[in-house]
Amino acid sequence: MLMTSVNKASNWNNIYCGNLACVGDEHTIKIEIEIVRDRRCEMAVAQVTARSCGDCMMCCKLLSIEELEKPAGIWCRHARSGQGCGIYKDRPNACSHFLCEWMTNPNLGQNWKPTSAKFVIFTSSIDQSLNICPDTGYPNAWRQEPYYSVLKETAARLIEQKKITRVTVGEMNTVLLPDRDEVVRCRPGSQITVIVTNSSAGTRYDLKVEPPLTHR
Ligand code: SF4
Ligand code: SF4
Repeated sequence: MLMTSVNKASNWNNIYCGNLACVGDEHTIKIEIEIVRDRRCEMAVAQVTARSCGDCMMCCKLLSIEELEKPAGIWCRHARSGQGCGIYKDRPNACSHFLCEWMTNPNLGQNWKPTSAKFVIFTSSIDQSLNICPDTGYPNAWRQEPYYSVLKETAARLIEQKKITRVTVGEMNTVLLPDRDEVVRCRPGSQITVIVTNSSAGTRYDLKVEPPLTHR
């Protein structure tokens, strides 16, 4: 299960500071696959933005929630259209502590609000991977501008810091790499590894999924 910590300086320019192993001129970047609500401190709202979810309940639909045994992409049984959470006071920690990137990143304008963008973005505290979950019916919303350029630029910067940016639609994960987007099929528990090799010919990025690796 991926978990997040408080993201006080939620800004894609400066939040990533992980430190993974790097051997010689080759290093690997690994993430475990499981789209679940990450846990973040609610204080982050006051610390970073004055935003509130308002009419958005996208994470109640798009993310899986272990405590509720709710799979990703299906509305939570407690969601009440136009009213919010039907068990607000008793909602699980995974819900009460979750904040998407739009809620915490003042650099993301109103058009990045999940209801407008048609995808939810959140950051994992375990590996700091950037996760993009498109709304069902809008699997390619993230490919539209102005989103795609920003996501690609961010992904290129993050991979230098040994962080992965990926878009998840069902079992299909699109990993955004500096030279391409690569789609791999994964299941919960799978691990994506990006092997970065620097040579005189340039930098090469190879993906490995364990188990198993299936390219579309
Ligand atoms: S996706 Fe973000 S803005 Fe929408 S309800 Fe969840 S935390 Fe709030
Ligand atoms: S329990 Fe409430 S906050 Fe959590 S996913 Fe369901 S409706 Fe949303």
